[in-house]
Amino acid sequence: MKNEIDTRLSRLRRSLVARDLQAVLVTCPENRYYLSGFWAEDLGLGESAGCLLITRNENLLLTDGRYKEQATKEAPLFQVQLYKKGLPALLKQLFRDLDIKRCGFEPPFLPVATYKKIKHAIVPATLVDFGDLIFKMRAIKDHEELAKIGRAQEVAEEVFADILPELKAGVTEREVAFLILKGLYLKADGPSFPPIVASGPNAALPHAIPGNRELKAGEPIIIDMGARLDGYCSDMTRTMFIGEPDPYFKEIYNVVKDAQEAAQRFIRAGIRCKDADGAAREIIEQRGFGEYFVHSLGHGVGIAIHEAPAVSFRNRKLLRAGMVITVEPGIYIPGKGGVRLENMAVVEENGCRLLTSSRFYYEFQ
Ligand code: ZN
Ligand code: ZN
Repeated sequence: MKNEIDTRLSRLRRSLVARDLQAVLVTCPENRYYLSGFWAEDLGLGESAGCLLITRNENLLLTDGRYKEQATKEAPLFQVQLYKKGLPALLKQLFRDLDIKRCGFEPPFLPVATYKKIKHAIVPATLVDFGDLIFKMRAIKDHEELAKIGRAQEVAEEVFADILPELKAGVTEREVAFLILKGLYLKADGPSFPPIVASGPNAALPHAIPGNRELKAGEPIIIDMGARLDGYCSDMTRTMFIGEPDPYFKEIYNVVKDAQEAAQRFIRAGIRCKDADGAAREIIEQRGFGEYFVHSLGHGVGIAIHEAPAVSFRNRKLLRAGMVITVEPGIYIPGKGGVRLENMAVVEENGCRLLTSSRFYYEFQ
């Protein structure tokens, strides 16, 4: 990973020069990992595990005593400095010592209160919005990242296969969610997000929270889950039935499956994100369910479960080779239920390669 990080840092440094910045302050946790290798769970916006200060010549990782040992080990290219009197005070000293006049920062990942303190402490130096360069870099995966995401998906599928025999009438959504979590903690580094187990009418809510509802025969059960492994996420949804499915949802299932296949055939480098969404949406609209496909087709997956690009009907940006995106059309009938099917795909020059296997699908006639 050291070589990849070196390459990323060189690219970042070129942009510092081009933008007349002497440094950039990286506070987004996923960007911090991407550029240093230091992985930590931040306990909240107000309690960060640390940040990076990358100048034209130095790599500094600023954190507190709790993370000293781990940061030193995981980020060998960085010099670890502890903020004993808080981040603003340390930055004040560093900006003076390193002669930093203009420093990039990440507005969505710095609380206003901290921003104000830093701004005051570093006068006459200034903070400048660094924009989305690091997010754009993260969107295109290298070989090692693709392998990690692929492995996270393989493990998630193992866990999925393990829990399938437990899907029985009378078992609650929470019990299924618990088994998924248990499997993900035992076989991977844990879940990439809290699993969704939504049965019957709950399956009409795209982001339902598993509750005490008992699974019933015939109704759709949406299971959306992913593993975190070696710093990377996977994301998969399957809709399952116990016993003979309700005929209405069989039809819906086939529409969603056709829409997913159409999008997967269409996706390749150079097309607009909105057109990938359109390839699936068109099928769902033609079959009369357009108003029930209430979210976008997909999203990027990597260090974060949701990252660039947004594969939405609004996004005019182009898909590029090396992006990992989800293809997840869904139809949600309020009060009744829903169906969603989600795969992960790597965008390639002439098509896409699925990272999800073709397991756990039904072939309804
Ligand atoms: Zn998902
Ligand atoms: Zn997803």
